[in-house]
Amino acid sequence: AKENGRNSYQFFTRELNDRARVRLDLENDLRRALARHEFTLAYQPQFDLATGHLIGAEALVRWHHPERGIIPPDQFIPIAEETGLIVPLGAWILRQACATGQAWRDEGLADITIAVNISAHQVRRGQLELTVRQVLNETAFSGHLLELEVTESALMANQAAAATTLKAIQAMGVRLAIDDFGTGYSSLGYLKRFALDKLKIDRSFINDLPDDNDDAHLTRAIIGIGHTLDMLVIAEGVETEAQERFLTELGCDQAQGYLYARPLPAADFRQMQIDLKYQ
Ligand code: C2E
Ligand code: CA
Ligand code: CA
Ligand code: CA
Repeated sequence: AKENGRNSYQFFTRELNDRARVRLDLENDLRRALARHEFTLAYQPQFDLATGHLIGAEALVRWHHPERGIIPPDQFIPIAEETGLIVPLGAWILRQACATGQAWRDEGLADITIAVNISAHQVRRGQLELTVRQVLNETAFSGHLLELEVTESALMANQAAAATTLKAIQAMGVRLAIDDFGTGYSSLGYLKRFALDKLKIDRSFINDLPDDNDDAHLTRAIIGIGHTLDMLVIAEGVETEAQERFLTELGCDQAQGYLYARPLPAADFRQMQIDLKYQ
């Protein structure tokens, strides 16, 4: 047993070392990735449930690692946050998304909102207001077509400072959406403090609709909260027509998910816009 214990200990430390090494490798690679142009954005369409019209695109970052292939954001955004790299990376994401949105407008494609994910660290230490102002200036993209998706944790960290920053950004016409709504553990008081424009129901509530009774009731309640506070409500992770029907019946305003499209490379998203325009 003693022997065994030592073996499993060695195994455990080796595994830990391996994981620490991978993490360290990624951290070092991440520092160079921006300069090496290894990031791209994918765009996932958002639709108005009542009309079926395309109304927006959520920009989602992708890292094309030279050896490891595509690394999903869940694996490197946390590292970027811990190392502070999220600030320059986040600025790049915002600039790229707005430049792409403006290029589509210049082509005469219909005006759609571009939604960009903002991490808590960008709100806290990233000079976010200045970055948004500069990006809108540089790209000529209209603030009225830009939407920032922030999570509860981004709002809770330093409420007073966050409120000032976000209010200044809203004054540029930019809309604010609360992302992953319902998964945080904070009270709902912040909804009064921040005049948010949109509420995004987390996909964990959508997954088992319409059969799961608890999720059905929670989703109905969340839509009620959003509408009571004059927010638009969007559901993410919509994968089936039954889910779409159910959400439409509940009065949910917008939807996004694999039912419509996966996140697409910019060229494919552009083609989809053209197809929709001439269909
Ligand atoms: P999120 O903001 O909640 O983004 C939605 C995620 O759900 C995306 O994963 C998207 O591909 C996925 N998704 C969309 N439709 C469906 C569906 O119908 N079913 C299922 N099962 N999944 C669906 P992705 O692109 O891997 O992003 C994961 C998370 O990484 C995002 O969650 C967001 O928190 C973060 N992230 C992604 N891009 C950025 C970024 O540019 N900046 C920051 N700060 N975070 C980002
Ligand atoms: Ca999001
Ligand atoms: Ca989510
Ligand atoms: Ca998220």
